[in-house]
Amino acid sequence: MSQFSENSFVQECLRESAQCIGCGTCLTSCPVYAQEAREELTARGRNRHILALLEGYGDAAEVVGKCLLCGRCTMVCPRGIRNDLIVAGLRGLMVQRDGLPFAKSVAFRRLLSDRKLMGRALRFAAAAQRLMPSEDGVGIGNLCDPPRPTVRHLPLFFSALGRGRRLPAVASDFLSERLPEENPASGVTGKKLRVAYFAGCATEFVLPRTGEAVVRVLTEAGMDVVFPHAQGCCGLAAHANGDVETAAAMARHNLDVLEHTNADLIVTSCATCGTALRDIWPRLALTDDERRRFVTLAGKTHDVSELILSAATPGVFSCYSNLPRGATITWHEPCHLGRHQHVSREPLTILRRTFGSAFHELREAGCCGFGGSFNLYHYGMSQKIGLHKADNIREAGADYVVTSCPGCLIQIMDLMAQHGIPGRVIHLAEAISFRA
Ligand code: SF4
Ligand code: SF4
Repeated sequence: MSQFSENSFVQECLRESAQCIGCGTCLTSCPVYAQEAREELTARGRNRHILALLEGYGDAAEVVGKCLLCGRCTMVCPRGIRNDLIVAGLRGLMVQRDGLPFAKSVAFRRLLSDRKLMGRALRFAAAAQRLMPSEDGVGIGNLCDPPRPTVRHLPLFFSALGRGRRLPAVASDFLSERLPEENPASGVTGKKLRVAYFAGCATEFVLPRTGEAVVRVLTEAGMDVVFPHAQGCCGLAAHANGDVETAAAMARHNLDVLEHTNADLIVTSCATCGTALRDIWPRLALTDDERRRFVTLAGKTHDVSELILSAATPGVFSCYSNLPRGATITWHEPCHLGRHQHVSREPLTILRRTFGSAFHELREAGCCGFGGSFNLYHYGMSQKIGLHKADNIREAGADYVVTSCPGCLIQIMDLMAQHGIPGRVIHLAEAISFRA
């Protein structure tokens, strides 16, 4: 233990895991335990063997790798133990000790750290997509009409995206090429809220229509929206994979960019990015001043559903369906929205009041099984966990599955295609319009 005792990852892991009383409540909520029934893959199992894991005994890579960071164990834990921080800390320690695998190093330190380079790499992928045969089936909102093929052959880190997955097409025009930086409120005079939009990589490169819908609905709701083109990756993927240094550099860059907008509030439409801004970035600060700036920014950050609901005049509900007449919907709550940001009431309120009886709620609010890199490296289990979600969606029988996280959106689109479930998957902002 002595060689690691001064390590900040170790300190954080030990502090959190020391709270564990071994009650086992977390086992019943863990989607991975439901599949494999192995104690060592649960929060209690990791906490019991934390010292051995820190020392590198046992199959630490598997035990630390097989976690969705979904936060379900924290939700039920009587001590509120942040298993996601323990797992990220352990992964960080492994990176410090063994270095970052080459593919991840290219992905985080070269591509995701450089939007222009990432854009060029994805354009290359998009060209490759066009050479592949088209497939029928589930489209992603209005984004893939006609449906595009899956990506099967991509280099390095992206190769894990193949294996027959159904993926949305890389956008022909990225969001920053479609949207100006300044987007004034429509039809509103007087003092308006100035909101900075942090879109995230998936919305920038793959789902730009989500970004356009977010800006449309916020400007309809009377807000001036600034969309700074200099923003970059939120860094959560790097953080979750133990590359804390890269995550911190990304957070610092975005902090400067977002502060420079002089916005009253920050809005996110990606639940994962929202979690990064609100929960992870302040933990990456190196100085007290930096921590104060991150905490201030976190306090100003909201999910788009929170801003839409707050914009409604009290007693007058202002949201309307943006979908074809008679369309039915259901809602998937992303773990990063409900568990990590505690935003559950707002999207449900908007959808229940906007769609009434056309809103077919899912019987269970389970995890979709995506989990970021979990989906890349444990695709079989990711699909098995998602099977429950797919069954729920089939049972709901809605025309549209509405969600608020590009990762969930891509996973559910894949699940629906794999299981032959008809329907489309869209972001909440695409489903509604706002009329004051
Ligand atoms: S975060 Fe999710 S997958 Fe990981 S141990 Fe907790 S419940 Fe299981
Ligand atoms: S629920 Fe919390 S306290 Fe109980 S065993 Fe799991 S991590 Fe430990």
